[in-house]
Amino acid sequence: MNPRARVLLLNAALGPLDYRVDPGQDVAPGSIVLAPLGPRQLAGVVWEPEHMPSDAEVGDNRLRPLAGVYDLPPLKASLRRLIEWTATYYLAPPAAVLRMALASASALDGGRTVIEYRPTGMVPPRQTPQRTQALERIADRQGLVRELATIADVSDAVIRGLVKAGAIEPVEVRVDDPYPIPDPDHAAPDLSPAQALAARRLTEAVDARDFAPILLDGVTGSGKTEVYFEAVAQAIRGGRQTLVLLPEIALTEPFLKRFAERFGVAPVAWHSDLRQSQRRRAWRAIASGEAAVTVGARSALFLPYRDLGLIVIDEAHESSFKQEDGVMYHARDVAVMRGRFEEIPVILASATPAIETRQQVALGRYEEVKLPARFGGATMPDIAAIDMTQDRPDRGRWLAPALVTALGETFERGEQSLLFLNRRGYAPLTLCRHCGHRFQCPNCTAWMVEHRLTARLACHHCGHVMPPPRACPECKEEDSLVACGPGVERIADEVAALFPAARTAIVTSDTLWSPAKTAEFVGRMEAGDIDVVIGTQLVTKGYHFPNLTLVGVVDADLGLSGGDLRAAERSFQQIAQVAGRAGRGAKPGRVLVQTHEPGAPVIQALVSGDADSFYAAETEARRSANAPPFGRFAAIIVSSENLDEAVATARSIGRAAPQVEGMHVYGPAPAPLAMLRGRHRQRLLVHARRALDVQDVIRGWLGELDWPRGARVAVDVDPYSFL
Ligand code: ADP
Ligand code: ZN
Repeated sequence: MNPRARVLLLNAALGPLDYRVDPGQDVAPGSIVLAPLGPRQLAGVVWEPEHMPSDAEVGDNRLRPLAGVYDLPPLKASLRRLIEWTATYYLAPPAAVLRMALASASALDGGRTVIEYRPTGMVPPRQTPQRTQALERIADRQGLVRELATIADVSDAVIRGLVKAGAIEPVEVRVDDPYPIPDPDHAAPDLSPAQALAARRLTEAVDARDFAPILLDGVTGSGKTEVYFEAVAQAIRGGRQTLVLLPEIALTEPFLKRFAERFGVAPVAWHSDLRQSQRRRAWRAIASGEAAVTVGARSALFLPYRDLGLIVIDEAHESSFKQEDGVMYHARDVAVMRGRFEEIPVILASATPAIETRQQVALGRYEEVKLPARFGGATMPDIAAIDMTQDRPDRGRWLAPALVTALGETFERGEQSLLFLNRRGYAPLTLCRHCGHRFQCPNCTAWMVEHRLTARLACHHCGHVMPPPRACPECKEEDSLVACGPGVERIADEVAALFPAARTAIVTSDTLWSPAKTAEFVGRMEAGDIDVVIGTQLVTKGYHFPNLTLVGVVDADLGLSGGDLRAAERSFQQIAQVAGRAGRGAKPGRVLVQTHEPGAPVIQALVSGDADSFYAAETEARRSANAPPFGRFAAIIVSSENLDEAVATARSIGRAAPQVEGMHVYGPAPAPLAMLRGRHRQRLLVHARRALDVQDVIRGWLGELDWPRGARVAVDVDPYSFL
């Protein structure tokens, strides 16, 4: 047996290291091990040396021995290949990708019981404002002391004090309790002929046990979820695991409920809001193969499924599948690669597929399965534009008379309305009427956004908050601050003023910040306790409210400004998506889109329902500009707390740019978000033809360079954000 093992440790700053293997230690590739590093011990994974070259090889006599091998299934070769591919493609340290696979450090330690804490319902004899706040925020939740302290926004000591006082008690949680297996035949729907045809193709793909990327393309409400559930059922019957990726954590809760209705029990959930004990239990069940179906946000993609048989990407066009920090990967693209390495089908479900995905279909690389009509005779909503240059709202108002009339009619009929505006808070900008001072974040190139519900100004980029001052900090004039422009809170005020009897709900990440809040909102909608919802993109996806018949898009032009590559496409997707919330039941839906540019191609496409020509024109524009998917981009983002350092580093990178046929480097230039979280930012944009291995070029280029310690250089391959 080979007396040495190459180990990729969970430390992104390190390359792979070699260790001595003692007799009796089984360290096949993929084994999860514990290895000494200086005075510490770190977890890592044994790798094939030919797949993970080391530039620090050490002689046999100087090797340190491994500290131990975990009693866990080794990472499969397919996952090791995925980790290598992701690291190479996105220019990330392999260990940073590995970290996403071994995402629960505590799970490695086995299935001990964990002590968590929960409120007893008893009020402590001595109350303090902090204790009151803690008990209020924790409500009926449970977790480690640290987790409860975070939820409550108090120190650990406050929680421990409450434990002493008897208001919070310890509970033993067993983290290896098995998950119930979903029943594929629990409540199978009667599929329409078109749905049955689509489902048959998907279940065949599951049975074939081979790589097959499939676009499931169907209008909103056509039953895409019901149809891909059939594929999930087939994977369960075959004893194989399924991963369903959702674009946002907020969608998990409604999904769990719907899944449970269809399969009898909820699937295993994976996202960043899990408690440590939940993560641990989920990770172990996924690795052992006992978790039949996992639903999660993009981080679920790298978990060590023992026997994956199917991946579903729901709302596959969503740009939130793109991770914007750490390893900057696109979960849709990596999911397809995982399908390839695992040799399994990957279903991309969407009503408005991304141009990149359509192009793969056009090239014959992805198969397309279509669902042309809404289920059960429900019709597509009627979409009309409101020309804001003609049909103007009153001064200081944001809703045009035509939309106000429609809201009134809908309310009179006892039906529900949804107003969509992708802006949290009350107003996006606050300024001083007297001197013109604007409130900017001290850490970012961004305005402070007024939130009246919580009475503060907040930066949406770094989280900086401040109380709204009474006087202008610049000219000291009192009561001179004015709110400019609308956010959802301001629209809610307007609705309340127009229709005092209407019951409104604001739906943003500020109001639906927990699964319980989401469940409460859904419950109130279904019970008819809400007449008008005012929401951000959070409310555009996944929900099915049959009595919701009117959708108003408050500002359709909002997404078009900024002019990045995908602005028009994203606006189209977003508005089509929110329009899809209207008229999903027996009553027809109506959509009114407020715009200053009713002639814009996006608006025309939405109103006429002719998505195909819009997409064709967008695709042509991309082709002639050699933009993705026809050419490729990579952004190099240089940041530093020191402006001169950021500029100098970016310039030296720019000067060192290699001359490569078919590649052009733009910049450096200050990023549109020139400062973010206290760091100055410069950008370079690399534009290359499709066939060029641009990552390899960049690797060689940056590999030759050094920059000061205070400067950070990040490469964003296939960028979605140009900020
Ligand atoms: P999509 O995912 O395409 O928006 P859904 O799968 O959410 O569509 O279906 C829309 C609504 O129609 C859901 O309430 C769903 O349960 C219902 N539905 C779709 N197909 C069927 C069917 N065959 N039998 C019963 N209900 C169905
Ligand atoms: Zn900020």
